[in-house]
Amino acid sequence: AGALAVVPSAATTTAPYLNSHQPVERRVNDLLARMTPAEKIGQMTQAERNAVDGDQAKITELGLGSLLSGGGSTPTPNTPAAWADMIDGYQARALATRLRIPLLYGVDSVHGHGNLVGATVFPHNIALGATRDPELVREAAHITATETRATGPQWVFAPCLCVARDDRWGRTYESFGEDPDLVTSLETAIDGFQGRGAGQLDRPDRVLATAKHFAGDGDTTYGSSAGDYKLDQGVTITSRERFRRIDLAPYVAAVREHRVGSIMPSYSSVDWTEDGVGNPVKMSAHHELLTEVLKQKIGFDGFLISDWDAINQLPGDYPTQVRTAVNAGLDMFMVPYSAGKFEQALLAEVTSGQVSTARIDDAVRRILRAKFELGLFEHPFTDRRYAGTIGSPEHRAVAREAVAKSQVLLKNDHRALPLDRSQRIYVAGANADNPGNQAGGWTVSWQGASGDTIPATTVLEGIRQYAPDTAYSLDASAPTAGYQVGIVVVGETPYAEGVGDVGNHGHTLALSAADQANIDKVCSAIATCVVLDVAGRPQIVTDQLPKLDALVMSWLPGSEGGGVADVLFGERGFTGKLPVSWPRSEAQEPINVGDRDYDPLFRYGFGLTTRH
Ligand code: BGC
Repeated sequence: AGALAVVPSAATTTAPYLNSHQPVERRVNDLLARMTPAEKIGQMTQAERNAVDGDQAKITELGLGSLLSGGGSTPTPNTPAAWADMIDGYQARALATRLRIPLLYGVDSVHGHGNLVGATVFPHNIALGATRDPELVREAAHITATETRATGPQWVFAPCLCVARDDRWGRTYESFGEDPDLVTSLETAIDGFQGRGAGQLDRPDRVLATAKHFAGDGDTTYGSSAGDYKLDQGVTITSRERFRRIDLAPYVAAVREHRVGSIMPSYSSVDWTEDGVGNPVKMSAHHELLTEVLKQKIGFDGFLISDWDAINQLPGDYPTQVRTAVNAGLDMFMVPYSAGKFEQALLAEVTSGQVSTARIDDAVRRILRAKFELGLFEHPFTDRRYAGTIGSPEHRAVAREAVAKSQVLLKNDHRALPLDRSQRIYVAGANADNPGNQAGGWTVSWQGASGDTIPATTVLEGIRQYAPDTAYSLDASAPTAGYQVGIVVVGETPYAEGVGDVGNHGHTLALSAADQANIDKVCSAIATCVVLDVAGRPQIVTDQLPKLDALVMSWLPGSEGGGVADVLFGERGFTGKLPVSWPRSEAQEPINVGDRDYDPLFRYGFGLTTRH
């Protein structure tokens, strides 16, 4: 008995933070007490994986708390196994640190695990907004979580809770719509990612969610930023009262009802000019909104992750930028290619007392809590058990249902729709048979790209599933005589953050000249003329409308474009409702329900129905 008493048991040699039977708060406090200032700052630092891939020892040396794959930062080959192997390799480096603190790996799974070729790519949020279906949105997010975590990342930078108030904004398609109540009702996405309630984050089909971009990103004033195309980095000029009602409201429910694990402050600024203050303050520097409102008043206990290099946009030199952001309340820093520089700068601020140890401890506590809740200390490496479900028929069926439910029927004269399978059908247009255009931005690459970028069913293929003899021409050049129904598929080419394809669709709502010509040709030659708009936001169709028999807003359907055909042929009824107001002209922007003199082409909530 004496010998047994002097040999310490495994339980007593194991530090409390490594003991999964201890409560999370105890583990957090125990680990924090063991950490040096430099180790704490490492946890607050997130690098882009490309910055460390060639020299992975940096992960250990810098004690990085997190890595991300920015849009399109994918392994070669871009397969589930390559993703998981890559991330597990980084994880091994993190576990080689003194305290063996695992990495958190983040990725932009904003409409499915869109970076991965072969994933189920869902319609963008604007389309989900049109479904008005919280349960479907929850399910889509759950599938996204499953496909993402099976390849390594335990964290997604989604959902976007932006309230899109101006369709010229280059991220309108990332928004569920213009109405804060609609956005709030679809925060079931957070439950789909994280699981509802506590205790599900450590499962292999769940990920930590990020509500973004806090707040007012979709409500910036046109012309308030250096380049109008970068509208999301502009200024929200408003009153405190209106900001609370329109921009802040979705975050209250995200925190209190859905317990979102992280929140990303926006690149944009807010200016309470309407209160007579008139001083734009960047969100990353906004102590009142980040700390007093979000953390203290609303009660957010997760962590704040900066946007990509966002602190570089703050006034002052680099140390000032770092100090300002940390003191404002940011907890983790997306400093993609400057992790070491950031760590040094923050350490100097702490050493000189300009940033308090209490602030650092608060930030690190929030980050560690997420890591414990995700079960990373017990299971740091990728649980691949659901890898076989990636892009499965079951997952794609849910995406196809989302596509069908998101279609908004804007005009349907002479009962042009639903189509009869025995009719002779002619399809024209650049977006009829193009997986990349269907999926839009944030698909395989940051900006997305036209062409066969992902395994998908296109709109044309969907139509041919019903009417195999359907003829197709890209530019309506084939003879159109003899056909009973002409379908013109118009729309946008991919872009993200309003950057891509500037001068064409990057920041204009106009139909392209080619699309207009196709409509003219087909609608003058064929008796019944149907136009489908495959785009991330309303396009100006006022002049074309009288020529058409039917107009359908198809949004950006993602990999399952065939769902469009399900409603065209009456397999399902049209039920989608506009999540944004549809302007008559671009000059009407910003246009939103509730405006004085509200006179859109199609009002918010509009959508004809058909029975199936
Ligand atoms: C975007 C974020 C995104 C981040 C990481 C930024 O440019 O604004 O929405 O999560 O990049 O890719």
